[in-house]
Amino acid sequence: MATSFTKKTLKLETVEPAASPAPHSSNSSFAKKPKLAASKSKKREIPEGLWTKCPKCSTMVFDKELDENLKVCTHCQHHFPISSRERIHSLVETCTFEEMDAQMTSVDVLQFTGVASYTSKLEKYQQETGLKDAVITGLCKVGEHRIALGVMDFKFLGGSMGSVVGEKLTRLIERATEKCLPLIIISASGGARMYEGMFSLMQMAKTCGALSYYAQARLPYISVLTDPTTAGVMASYATVGDLIIAEPGAMIGFAGPRVIKDTTQAELPPGFQTAEFLLDHGLIDAIIPRKEMKQRLIEYLNFLTAGQKTASAAS
Ligand SMILES: [Zn+2]
Repeated sequence: MATSFTKKTLKLETVEPAASPAPHSSNSSFAKKPKLAASKSKKREIPEGLWTKCPKCSTMVFDKELDENLKVCTHCQHHFPISSRERIHSLVETCTFEEMDAQMTSVDVLQFTGVASYTSKLEKYQQETGLKDAVITGLCKVGEHRIALGVMDFKFLGGSMGSVVGEKLTRLIERATEKCLPLIIISASGGARMYEGMFSLMQMAKTCGALSYYAQARLPYISVLTDPTTAGVMASYATVGDLIIAEPGAMIGFAGPRVIKDTTQAELPPGFQTAEFLLDHGLIDAIIPRKEMKQRLIEYLNFLTAGQKTASAAS
């Protein structure tokens, strides 16, 4: 009896070695380990800046081709991450973007120090991305529509929402309310920025407060969720859009799947926390491929502002 039980345990462990950290690393049966290490070193041999391996279909895609296709895999339509500036370029009419609060930067109010200080992290990301913080906001034209647009950038500290992201978006929402403009916010975020503690969490209430004044003015707000949109951002402005749309395959949720699994002690359904799953369950209204995004946004704006135009024409 005892021997068959041990065999069973061993078999289970070999079936899913990568899913969770191995609890008994002293066990001998890890035939897969050297293979993993080998594939990692192989990856490094590929010259950077010419080809990118698609994480979904493993095809090597020529970088130029990928850029021309708005960072979407030409073989399997996997949507790669895209920077906020590239996103704006793909949506907005040329030379119409007027950026707001471009110089706003975070202050290390808590004097937060982990492995590195918050100030040094900010400097590092500002240099790497050329951004001051994780969101770009401004007024622009999309098609014939003048709109207020906010675009988050996951490359800046995981698109985390600190006081600057919250303040810039709030000012954008307030400007849109004042000028009666439609609002589009494109989110990509790991959640609130822990380096700013409570100041980050307060942005959830602040942005939603501004959005409720915006809603009272009966103006349309479209929230676009991209991979990934989670936690504090998902629990605030990202989910209160009049229309909530997403890119294909985007990971969308509040807490991570492992945390939920451990808390609920239940198996999660397949496709959990993907845009497709949330469309089926009614949280989001549509999934739109990146290449069709601009046209579809214009159609939605036409529809959502039709009433306003009739009203202003009548008066
Ligand atoms: Zn692919």
